[in-house]
Amino acid sequence: MASTQTTDVVIAGAGPTGLMLALELRLAGIDVTLVDALPGRSGESRAGGIHARTMELLDQRGLLAPLLERGRVMQAGHFGGLRMDFGDFPTRFPYMLGLVQSEIERELDARARDAGAAVHWGSPVVGLAQDGTGVEVELGGEHPRRVRAAYLVGCDGGRSSVRKLAGIGFSGTESTVLGMLADVQLADPPEDMFFGARRGPGDYSVIQLQPGSWRLIVQRHDRVHERGAEPTFEDFRRSFTEVAGTDFGMHDPIWFSHYGDAARLADRYRDGRVLLAGDAAHIHYPAGGQGLNTGVQDAVNLGWKLAASVRGDAPAGLLDTYGGERRPVGERLLHNTRAQTQLMRPGAHADALRDVMGDLLGTDDVRHRLGLMITGLDQRYETGCDHPLAGRRVPDAELRAPGGVTRIGELLGSGRPVLLALRDADALEATAKGWLDQVVFALAASVSEHWPLPGQGECAVPAGVLIRPDGHAAWAGEADDADGLRAALARWVGDRPGVA
Ligand SMILES: Cc1cc2nc3c(=O)[nH]c(=O)nc-3n(C[C@H](O)[C@H](O)[C@H](O)COP(=O)(O)OP(=O)(O)OC[C@H]3O[C@@H](n4cnc5c(N)ncnc54)[C@H](O)[C@@H]3O)c2cc1C
Repeated sequence: MASTQTTDVVIAGAGPTGLMLALELRLAGIDVTLVDALPGRSGESRAGGIHARTMELLDQRGLLAPLLERGRVMQAGHFGGLRMDFGDFPTRFPYMLGLVQSEIERELDARARDAGAAVHWGSPVVGLAQDGTGVEVELGGEHPRRVRAAYLVGCDGGRSSVRKLAGIGFSGTESTVLGMLADVQLADPPEDMFFGARRGPGDYSVIQLQPGSWRLIVQRHDRVHERGAEPTFEDFRRSFTEVAGTDFGMHDPIWFSHYGDAARLADRYRDGRVLLAGDAAHIHYPAGGQGLNTGVQDAVNLGWKLAASVRGDAPAGLLDTYGGERRPVGERLLHNTRAQTQLMRPGAHADALRDVMGDLLGTDDVRHRLGLMITGLDQRYETGCDHPLAGRRVPDAELRAPGGVTRIGELLGSGRPVLLALRDADALEATAKGWLDQVVFALAASVSEHWPLPGQGECAVPAGVLIRPDGHAAWAGEADDADGLRAALARWVGDRPGVA
């Protein structure tokens, strides 16, 4: 075995989660070794798009524009096959961006390479041993070697080796359905896309990916997905035709796959110097298009906390807030996808349930409640501050700054915390003076007097907001809440002994 290399963080898995984490860590100047078991990028289409919160995060880091150019705006998503319009959601991106996972990965991969985190392909993690100061990571493949790092993050998918090697349990429920999907061309396409049309023992969806390119999905509730059993494309065509009554003239499949609705969550997201993110931490039924999105959001929540831990300037307990904040999001994800499976089952009971839910989704309150959850816009973390904005993602509001009109998202590009002073800047700056080398102090006026809070109405624009690098407000309030601001700076940016 080759001698041990050293790095700050080993990331196992170069899917969307691993790539996003690599980008976040490189932005913070952290050394990253990004390894993947595969010999090269698979090019599998997989996820069909990204939701509003993921778009906001990518936008903050300057990663979104090329994806917007290549993607397709989809005004609506669905909950268990019941259509949900996102058009009036309070975000710059009130839609789903239809773009296959392989395209998203290609872009993130190129950006990670530019940032100094090229993928080492053919390098599966096969062993690990941690001690008080780091992790010894054993890589297999044709060039077995060891890498020593301060931390190892398993972004290595649902069958995560890192999770198993760290002895972290993966509890949940078994699969109850068989889902199959194929990306094809259609000789006889329907007029429009539709989600979850139910017939007999199954349901089917027809989604246009690009002009001329369609994703067909069929779910059989009378069959169960079994690991190791590999249906063929012909099985898919037969099953789809049985349920839909037509195959829409499908031909030239470029990708075909199958899945179930097993739902499992890692018992914990951290074991010492080993962490989990993305599918390695949560698997579920791919309903509502949430898996990739949740993985990218995990990565952005973890990146800055891990960077501070590697540098050694993280406030006490910061790294544990990753699991504290993201595991409940994973729990909620499993919960809503289980509910969606139930809505899609055949039979009179599910028919009645769908009628009731369909009626409820016709009301804005319910549509917003479920849609904001699926899009990730309503997430709120506990921050110790009781302002209505605290813990929520800060809206991408327009600002008048000394250099001209800007918006909050643009202030977050450096990946550092931002203290945004909208009024009483002198007092806020004086309060934060012990931390000004660690935060971006931004002076601006808000163009509007109120900011929308997804699902909660709106709030009056506060005098100041301390924004975490993941775009969530750690503190918001008036300048006279100096104790509150100092407590938030100490908790989220860095302990400053001696700062009163
Ligand atoms: C059929 C299907 C349809 C889907 N549709 C959607 C959708 O519409 N919307 C949505 O958001 N999500 C969807 N998903 C889910 C989405 O694809 C996943 O949630 C997403 O890929 C998770 O990203 P990840 O980076 O966490 O893991 P993955 O993308 O699984 O990446 C894990 C990487 O780790 C590597 N790896 C594995 N073992 C090791 C090891 N020992 N060492 C090093 N590397 C290793 C793998 O080779 C892989 O490259 C779908 C999934 C499937 C299967």
